[in-house]
Amino acid sequence: MTAAQVVAQLKKFGIPFKEYKDWKTHNRDHKGKWGPVHGLMVHHTGSDAKDQRELLYKGYADLPGPLCHFGLAQDGTIHLIGWGRANHAGLGDDDVLDAVIAEKAIPKDNESNTDGNARFYGVEIWYSGSHAMSNEQYATLRLLAAAICDFHDWNEQSVIGHGEWGSPGKWDPGISSGKMMDMDAVRKDIKATIAKGKPASKPPTSKPSTPAKPKPTVPPFPGRSYFRPGAKNKYVTQVGAQLVKKGYGRFYKVGPGPQWTAVDRAAVKAFQRAQGWTGQDADGYPGPETWKRLFS
Ligand SMILES: [Zn+2]
Repeated sequence: MTAAQVVAQLKKFGIPFKEYKDWKTHNRDHKGKWGPVHGLMVHHTGSDAKDQRELLYKGYADLPGPLCHFGLAQDGTIHLIGWGRANHAGLGDDDVLDAVIAEKAIPKDNESNTDGNARFYGVEIWYSGSHAMSNEQYATLRLLAAAICDFHDWNEQSVIGHGEWGSPGKWDPGISSGKMMDMDAVRKDIKATIAKGKPASKPPTSKPSTPAKPKPTVPPFPGRSYFRPGAKNKYVTQVGAQLVKKGYGRFYKVGPGPQWTAVDRAAVKAFQRAQGWTGQDADGYPGPETWKRLFS
């Protein structure tokens, strides 16, 4: 993966991440090979400090940074530390590397004869290892592993703990003092995450709201000339029907019908007055505003 490709994968899997300094070009490629990469190696930093970016970026005098590609904070955020060869894996067992490449069960490590820094992506999880990592860290670890496996078309056997690699004295990622997590169980969880595929970028936060009741649509006002003595048309019938609906049925002994009558006018006038209108606004002849209110 290139730096741009890893960013795209993090986005694709909805993984929260932040970029630290010039991580895209921060590496130790001048000291040795980088790639082909065959898997992801999981580490704990051995510290519960809240911000471990600079330490992972710079490293130590005898172990210069970057010390990983991914720093994984307590809140589940990935911090991108470097890209290219990084000092995280050291020497390990070639039989383990062969198993990772073949995606087979990881054999017990018993030698340190192979350069791991060229072969693995490394995630350093910010915790001491003497206790469990946070739930947020574990959730992101699963997504990160799935995102990487998705890109390379790997399965969960491509993910190992540093303690499985063959570096003497390593037991990361830890679950309690000196004790590594059950990596087969971790891989099982990662397998489930891979099977789920690309998660939605955002989990649904609420049920979809019920759609608002559609507002009644007001038909266009046909024009004042349709409501004059002697007029006979469908709009007169419609106005009468709306007046009945609105509670003015008492005016109609028969109908309402298409013929504009004094009864229609009296009913409209009562409706207009009920709107608080007076004078010409309550002359009993429907205008655009009367029409709108009748049909709303
Ligand atoms: Zn480690």
